[in-house]
Amino acid sequence: MKYYNLKDSQEKVDFRTATIKGQGKDKGLFFPENLPQFEDEFIQNLHQYSNEEIAYQCMKGFIGDEIPSKVLREIIAETVSFEIPLQRITDRISILELFHGPTLAFKDIGARFMSRCLSYFLKDQHKKVTVLVATSGDTGGAVAHGFYDLPAIDIVILYPKNRVSPVQEKQLTALGKNILALEVNGSFDDCQSLVKQAFSNEEINTKLFLTSANSINIARWLPQQIYYLLALKQWQQYEKKPPVICVPSGNFGNICAGLLAHFRGLPADHFIAACNTNDVVPEYLKTKDLKPKKAVATLSNAMDVGDPSNFIRIMELFGQNFDSLKNNISGYSVNDEETLNTIAEVYKKYKYILDPHSAVAFTSMEQYLNENPDKSGFILGTAHPVKFPDAVEKAVKVKIEIPESLNDLMKKEKKTVEINSDFEELRRFLLDKN
Ligand SMILES: *Cc1c(COP(=O)(O)O)cnc(C)c1O
Repeated sequence: MKYYNLKDSQEKVDFRTATIKGQGKDKGLFFPENLPQFEDEFIQNLHQYSNEEIAYQCMKGFIGDEIPSKVLREIIAETVSFEIPLQRITDRISILELFHGPTLAFKDIGARFMSRCLSYFLKDQHKKVTVLVATSGDTGGAVAHGFYDLPAIDIVILYPKNRVSPVQEKQLTALGKNILALEVNGSFDDCQSLVKQAFSNEEINTKLFLTSANSINIARWLPQQIYYLLALKQWQQYEKKPPVICVPSGNFGNICAGLLAHFRGLPADHFIAACNTNDVVPEYLKTKDLKPKKAVATLSNAMDVGDPSNFIRIMELFGQNFDSLKNNISGYSVNDEETLNTIAEVYKKYKYILDPHSAVAFTSMEQYLNENPDKSGFILGTAHPVKFPDAVEKAVKVKIEIPESLNDLMKKEKKTVEINSDFEELRRFLLDKN
């Protein structure tokens, strides 16, 4: 499989190069040259396959022989090694719980897959690699955990000061060893912009071997398709109709992976992009005008993105056809007050505790289903409620227990370097650390 640069389709690279480089010339995102179709037999009989086999079938066409199938199967086994149950909340809304991995967020899957691919590709390199990543909350923890203690790889994580939850912050800052956390006086968009500047800076790229672990990296983006197959496998046990799929969205990597799977033959009735107050995409669907904005802080902080990087991949999937895109995707914007109300309501009615991100999705899904009374579907539950105790406890008025698996982590000390949203400060840090 070859991947072309969305900013310059003449630049074509293989899976290895795309994984190592992260992005192409002019900060362009890579996109697969063709979309391997699922066999009908496979899609109709998902329940007959193990999760590992489904994941392998999903991914192998994108990698070809660049990773031997035995190694790829091992990577996949480690990637989907925890349960991903589809739970019914109401008659018409289920939730795919993607938060049973090591950092209790769905990004564990992409981060585990990517870190292992990168280690495989770099195993014979002599130069140390620096993975540079901006996080609005969850990416950093998942990446830190995925790469922790791997030889010859440093992880530098930029996160917006005071905008991540205590559990998230510990997951970013307390591991130590090869994980270096930078606390930025600014927003997630500022962090992302600093990271992008570093990638296009010649001096840094000559002195360091730099790569990214954001969802712009295809090795993080592509494995997210697996969720949708695993959801469908369970969905088909009790429903014949294709589901409406609602995805809490920030940088739009996750929903884009779902749409990619859909273009390859995964049945879906409709997709919903559930956003918080950062409503660039819902506005685009109304006005046909994609206008990046400054990100604003919300309770669902992992979706505080004002300029969603992956949206251009979605436009590419739809061949730049706005009408076709609009027919397949609806957008909703849900504010913090509605988010808290939903958490409270759902707990009261169904004894189910949503985290703020999943609550944004639930709210959007309810609105869509109210307008479409014959449909049903599932939302993606992207984080465990314990990662956002303030919001959740405020809504449900019960104390959320920290799972035992987090106790040790919470006792560890936070270690960070604080920088301003100023590229010069990042540049100095990167050059000095080596
Ligand atoms: C990252 C994240 C999202 C948004 O996913 P994107 O792929 O960036 O759209 C939603 N919920 C949680 C909990 C996240 O960590």
